[in-house]
Amino acid sequence: MKLGALEAGGTKMVCAICDENGNVSDRVSIPTTTPEETMPKLVDYFKNHEIDCLGIACFGPIDLREDSKTYGYITTTPKPGWANTDVVGAFKELGVPIGFDVDVNGSVLGEVTFGIGKGHKHVIYITLGTGIGMGVYQDGKLLHGMQHPEGGHILLPIHPNDPMKKAICPFHPNCFEGLASGTAIRARWGKGGQDLIEKDEVWDLEAYYIATALVSYTMTLSPELIILGGGLMHQSEQILPRVYKEYAKLLNGYVKTEQTMHPEKYIVCQSLNDNQGILGAAMLGLQKLRG
Ligand code: ZN
Repeated sequence: MKLGALEAGGTKMVCAICDENGNVSDRVSIPTTTPEETMPKLVDYFKNHEIDCLGIACFGPIDLREDSKTYGYITTTPKPGWANTDVVGAFKELGVPIGFDVDVNGSVLGEVTFGIGKGHKHVIYITLGTGIGMGVYQDGKLLHGMQHPEGGHILLPIHPNDPMKKAICPFHPNCFEGLASGTAIRARWGKGGQDLIEKDEVWDLEAYYIATALVSYTMTLSPELIILGGGLMHQSEQILPRVYKEYAKLLNGYVKTEQTMHPEKYIVCQSLNDNQGILGAAMLGLQKLRG
């Protein structure tokens, strides 16, 4: 079977052809410019591959309510030109079933189907990159609720030693993404994470924000496994040991399970070599095809 997969990101669009076993036979990356310029290129790619279904894992926020007039749209994104874009509608001419979900739900689906999340029923996936997002796999399926969780925008206490007194999010003065994304690191320290490897203060602060968010997710969603991915995890050697320490300190023994007692096994790095998003997107299409 030929499964079309689109990982729609704010910087680039990755289109791929996969099979049910997670093999990727073709892949292209197209820069995300304007919808008018980018969308036709994506449609053309899939037209040329005679796919059986298409799965789209898209940056958000998006409308996932199937009875809504704007189902399949990107809604309120601050990315210029992309608010109120009909993503699913653009691919209707392909005439195949289309699965649609938020990018991080795609990534968690990729990990529970093919990666380290396999065999688990309650898993969360957090992407730490230019933005921050959280996908939730709860009781064996992707969690949507009213819309979809927006775990990147939970509000966190600003650390007293943080030289940046206000988060960089245009919506919130103290949200997780605005304090801890790669963009926030650059705003605070004037350089990207890869150029700050030796600076303990950068990673101590980063670990504080990540651990604070993870404690909140533990308390509210009770996941069995927490998977971290995204560009910042290329600095996992700086981040993970500090997160384990800070997580244990902040949780303070309140939730005592096999998982929380061993944060190094509970909080892990993505396992699919950054293919979790595209493979999860393919699975979104397959789910739709199988109804
Ligand atoms: Zn925010």
